[in-house]
Formats: sequence, structure tokens, C-alpha cells
Amino acid sequence: MTAAEWSSKPCVVYRKARSGSVTSERQAKIESATYAICAMNTRDYSPPLLQGGFHTWSFRGDHNHIAFLGKGPQRQRQRAFEDVVGNPGLRLSWPDQIHSATVVAAHERGSCGNADALTTTERGVALSIATADCVPIVIAGQRRLAAIHAGWRGLVGRVIQGTLDELAEEPSSLKAWIGPAIGACCYEVGEDVASQVTDASDPAVRIHREPRPHLDLAAAAEWQLSRAGVEQVHTVSVCTRCSPAWLWSYRRDQDDAGRNWTFAWLE
Ligand SMILES: [Zn+2]
Repeated sequence: MTAAEWSSKPCVVYRKARSGSVTSERQAKIESATYAICAMNTRDYSPPLLQGGFHTWSFRGDHNHIAFLGKGPQRQRQRAFEDVVGNPGLRLSWPDQIHSATVVAAHERGSCGNADALTTTERGVALSIATADCVPIVIAGQRRLAAIHAGWRGLVGRVIQGTLDELAEEPSSLKAWIGPAIGACCYEVGEDVASQVTDASDPAVRIHREPRPHLDLAAAAEWQLSRAGVEQVHTVSVCTRCSPAWLWSYRRDQDDAGRNWTFAWLE
């Protein structure tokens, strides 16, 4: 579904079980809890398209482009960007990610320093995030854009709220896109992490499985966005660990893991 189609589609909820061992019943429980809050959320189970040789989910908003890239012919960020976007006139900016809640404004090409969220109001700047199981998030306003790297630490540290504070727009006017991340099927964690994430979001993002709980990080991000007033959230519900042909996963690939790239820019 394109962003334009999504924008015109009211209150659509996709109730498909994701791949892996999460049952439909459990999945429905998560979604019913989440969507009771996020009435305008959509979950997108579509496969990627090949763009520039990369498995890519692309969306186009009113004044912005978003591309979530998985595996492709090579691993270098700038070359992946050029292969898929093909616009060397854009200055590609990225944070040196440290699992923090630090938000910085991007102006120039290259690293913006230690941070986990970037914002811009400038056409000509492209924001980039790297992930390999964590949740990549893009938030767009009329003339503002943000890209966020949110793992469990970022969610607990409220990096989403920090980014919304920097954007300083009416939350109900914003749209958000959540890219591929590790799913509740595969994200096994300890009790301490599960408790911190549910405290920062909703008990329904925790899946009770033995011997250890599992978490739905994307659902936690959706909850935080919704609670902050962002009503339109489109989630690409594809698990990185369950999709070896499409996406890198640190839990699956360990030190061999490449990175899935998120690119977002204003036009
Ligand atoms: Zn999975």
C-alpha cells in the first residue's frame, strides 16, 4: 500500500499473524490492546520490492520520501543510498548510534555525532538510521522530518517523546512510519528488560512465553506514538530475524550482520 493509499484509508487494521511462533490469538491480543488506542494505525505485511538491487519498502508522504532498505548488493551506506535513491544532490546525514535518547538536528553530510534521532527542516538533507533488529521510525510533519533508532533502551529512554518535543508540531498533524524490526516471535528478553519496556509502554507488548518473555518492540513504539498524540502510524510488520532473504538481523547473524538502512528526506 502506498502512502497516498494509506492516507485515504480510514481505520484499517490488518489482523494477520506474523511469521514465527506467535499464535494468532496472542497476536490479536496485542493488536486489540494496541489498536484500542491507535485507531488509525495500519500494519503492513507486504513483501519488499527490489529497488537498486535492495529489498525495499518505500513510502511517499505529502512532502517527504521514506525508504526502508534490507539486503542488497553491498553494505556501504552511501552507496546503498545512491543505488536506491539515485540523488547525489542530497546530503546524507546519520547519527553515531549509542542507544540513547539524544536528538540532534542534521544539516551537513556525514555523522552528526553521538545520538539516536535526527531532525531536519531542510530540503537537501537526507536522514539515515542503521538497524539490525531495533526499530527504525520516521516521523513527518508539513515541513519537518525526523528519523529515530529505537531499541529497548531507546524506548525506555523515551527517544520518541524527545524527538516529538524537538519537532514541536501538533502531534495529531504528524504521520509516522515504523520499519522492519525484530518481531515478538523472536525477541526473547530477560524479566528486567521486559518490565522496563512494559513500564514505558503497555503490558500487552509483552508475550508470556517460557522460559523467558518476548517483546513486541514495534507495538511499544506504536503505543508511545499514539499516547503522544500521533494518530497515523504505518508499521511494516516484517520480522528481521524471520526474514533472512530480505533483512539483516543481529540476533540471527551476530557479527556477520550487515545493517538495514532507513532513508528519509523532504522534497
Ligand atoms: Zn521472528
